[in-house]
Amino acid sequence: MKLILKNDLSSSELYTIEDLERWPKDGTSLAVLGHPVKHSLSPTMHNAALEELSQSDPSFSDWTYYKFDVSPDNLNSAINQFHEKGFRGLNLTVPHKILAAQWVNIGESEVELTEACNTLLWTPDGYTGYNTDLYGMTSAIENEFEIRLQDRDVILLGAGGAARAAAIACAQAGVQSLTLANRTIAKLDSIKGVLNKLSERPTVNTCKLDQPLPNISDKLLVINATSLGLKPEDPTPAKLRNLPASTLVFDMIYNPARTALLKEAETLGMQVANGLGMLAYQGERSLSIWTQKNPSAKTMFDAARAGLSPT
Ligand code: NAP
Repeated sequence: MKLILKNDLSSSELYTIEDLERWPKDGTSLAVLGHPVKHSLSPTMHNAALEELSQSDPSFSDWTYYKFDVSPDNLNSAINQFHEKGFRGLNLTVPHKILAAQWVNIGESEVELTEACNTLLWTPDGYTGYNTDLYGMTSAIENEFEIRLQDRDVILLGAGGAARAAAIACAQAGVQSLTLANRTIAKLDSIKGVLNKLSERPTVNTCKLDQPLPNISDKLLVINATSLGLKPEDPTPAKLRNLPASTLVFDMIYNPARTALLKEAETLGMQVANGLGMLAYQGERSLSIWTQKNPSAKTMFDAARAGLSPT
């Protein structure tokens, strides 16, 4: 079988596990695995940061980040093949974060709490898993709004994987209070269950997404971790009208850049931020795990923003 030559590879190409069999041994490879993953901004973001790192340390000049479409059925064997091929690090995106957490060594308590991991580091014994989404969300919120999460009363919309990670990050940051809101109230039980395992946790309340959000403080932070807003025509997941104008609104969605929720918040005079910062900060943490360096979140943010097509 003929090997692919390193020079024939392209970080913008979409690869599959069939390509792995012919993968060249030279250079250090990183990759994101998803399904679908065609539009992932991760290669653009990571390769920009790697290029910057290589200017001060030439040993990074042969590091490249690729994207691979891997179906959930093939994920377990794919992870083994990436390990055999010596891929230094992998990112996992939709729908692999929860599946992968059962097959890797646990690198930090966040993986156990969220039962999900988005970052794998190669070790001789297999991959070790991390979840950098928590750091990504906290850093994005604190830096973009210039606040400390611990000073805020948080209303968290959603009960899926992203909401679970966000709830744990809020609890770890020591927020004043946490209100969980979801369309399907029963799905909040699993988040309440994981919060109960934490030694320090905020007061937790729940409410239904279609009811008015509780106006409980003038230091509110609303976090959207539902997928409502991914389609440009999606309505807002919750009404903000009865909340004070001092409310901050963070939407994990970054494409489209302005969801109906963020548009409504802006109309009401509220400060807003979308999820692009979260993407960049989780990427920065992943890359620092692989390189043991301090890559620039700003470089990653700028590259990701440039990679987004206008919507
Ligand atoms: P998920 O597990 O599929 O959860 C989806 C959530 O959205 C559930 O709470 C679901 O409510 C709710 N939802 C879906 N359709 C709805 C509708 N029509 N009306 C009301 N609620 C609805 O998804 P996830 O992995 O947690 O991801 C959630 C969002 O976060 C996605 O938009 C994703 O792109 C984003 N995200 C961003 C980053 C980043 O780096 N910026 C990272 C991770 C995730 P039910 O429980 O009632 O079904």
